[in-house]
Amino acid sequence: MEAYLEYLKEHNPEMAKYFELMQPMMGKNEVEEGKEIPRIDLEVEERIKKLKKINHKLFAMIENLKLQLEFELNQNDDLAKAIGACTECFGEDNECSACFGTGKPGNGIPDFILFNKYIQPAIQKYNKHYFNKN
Ligand SMILES: [Zn+2]
Repeated sequence: MEAYLEYLKEHNPEMAKYFELMQPMMGKNEVEEGKEIPRIDLEVEERIKKLKKINHKLFAMIENLKLQLEFELNQNDDLAKAIGACTECFGEDNECSACFGTGKPGNGIPDFILFNKYIQPAIQKYNKHYFNKN
């Protein structure tokens, strides 16, 4: 069996890498059990590689989603501040730990800069569309 493995290693360098990876496990089993060695299936190795790639992609997706969530939470906070609303619930949650449902738009003083960034253009468009004013 050893001679056959050596032959494979010599004639198939790609396989040799796998044998090197499996060697410690194979040797351990041989010593402990002293009987037929259960071989790690190369398909299992391939599956592990594929799963690691998928895992890597999923972690990258999670990182992107975290960044997107952080951006959108900041934008949500800015919009709430622009209209003087609770940043946690916009006054729509009576059990909100920040405002107990009192933080509706206009409850607080709208942030000057954020109001002019988000709300003023909307008011202009609103008036032009519904009342034909400037
Ligand atoms: Zn609230």
